[in-house]
Amino acid sequence: MNDNNTINSAEILCVGTELLLGDIVNTNAAFLSTRLADLGINVYRHTAVGDNPERLRRALKLAIDENDLVITSGGLGPTYDDLTKETVSDFFGRKMYLHDQSLARIEEYFSRTGRVMTENNKKQAMMPEGAIVFTNNYGTAPALALYDEEKNKTVIMLPGPPNELVPIFNEEVEPYLHSRRESMLISHNVNIFGMGESSVETALKGLMQNAHNPTVAPYCKEGEVRLRVTARASTKEDADRMCEEMIANISATEVGKYIYGVDADTLENAAIKHLKRKGLTLSSAESCTGGLIAKRLTDVAGSSEVFLGGCVTYTNDVKMKLVGVSAETLERYGAVSGETACEMARGVRLALGSDIGVSTTGIAGPGGGTEETPVGTVFVGISTEKGEYVKRLSLSSMKSRSYIRNISANHAFALVLECENNNGKK
Ligand code: ATP
Repeated sequence: MNDNNTINSAEILCVGTELLLGDIVNTNAAFLSTRLADLGINVYRHTAVGDNPERLRRALKLAIDENDLVITSGGLGPTYDDLTKETVSDFFGRKMYLHDQSLARIEEYFSRTGRVMTENNKKQAMMPEGAIVFTNNYGTAPALALYDEEKNKTVIMLPGPPNELVPIFNEEVEPYLHSRRESMLISHNVNIFGMGESSVETALKGLMQNAHNPTVAPYCKEGEVRLRVTARASTKEDADRMCEEMIANISATEVGKYIYGVDADTLENAAIKHLKRKGLTLSSAESCTGGLIAKRLTDVAGSSEVFLGGCVTYTNDVKMKLVGVSAETLERYGAVSGETACEMARGVRLALGSDIGVSTTGIAGPGGGTEETPVGTVFVGISTEKGEYVKRLSLSSMKSRSYIRNISANHAFALVLECENNNGKK
């Protein structure tokens, strides 16, 4: 409990018997949790309860007793078993009244969508006294907040359908929550590739332990590490500036050279930006990644400025025909070898006339591994006019085919990031 009106803790209470029957997956709880975490509000519990008034009342009481904020989803519909609003209203001892603007909006919604309005749709326009009503432009049930200032308790009620809940949250609830907070909490994610979580933690131990505002917390992402830097300040600008300073401090440590971007940046995005900055072009010859490198690069808008194209050279025959891998290399070292990867990267670079050629050849599994080259062995090659380099990856054979392919592509992008003008690999 707080002695002021800030919101620190929350529970997400989802109403609907379909959730308990397993008919639908609780995506609303996942969405709301992520968004509340971004706002710096701790979510202490998710609850799902059926359309039963007594059990809903008990679940609500518990949630309200233990938290500053409860966000409900579902049970705002027009039928007799949609009881969320009525139960919350009863709980706070508020009377219900007909909210004229909501009624007008519901009538307008029905006439716009050509549907017939029934008498019980009016139930959706009934509001508890003192409610803050959030307009629902995506359906009929308005969302609402009830705030008991004396007890510092807030209940926000949102409709169940995700295509209503998500935009209402983004457009109206988030600004409302911001306005209720005395300070802003802003987070930025620092994306790291090529350094494991424990090494990152060890390198930043002192900095992390002494960091209170902003805080720095590491998270593991598939094959990557993400540092979440979170600052609290009275304005967004101040919080952003504090985060930027912390990110600069992190970049100055040994972790710095493994940082490829901040926030929504991806490795392929970083690689494209790097190539543009350096004025370099790229082509790819892919075996085990089957075109994934080209796909991920071309997902980035504007990649045609620097990515010329690629070949999927899956069989030995195609490796020889398209990118000029020699029969002798294939015979002597095998298709999954550093030598083949190197010739693939060189071959595609020369065939397509790019500054850099990148290649992958490996065993993505689940079958096909040998003692010498088990599943998860991948060679990533890079070739420029001035130099060539091959990286051997030994990924866990227990990982899925798609994981191995994705991580291999990540390594290819990381190698591209290390390429300098006419200088091969650094
Ligand atoms: P309606 O006016 O549509 O009845 P409502 O607010 O009463 O809205 P519910 O009836 O509880 O909402 O749910 C409507 C639909 O929304 C469900 O059938 C389901 O498809 C989806 N839904 C409800 N709750 C969730 C949830 N927690 N996660 C994902 N989808 C949900």
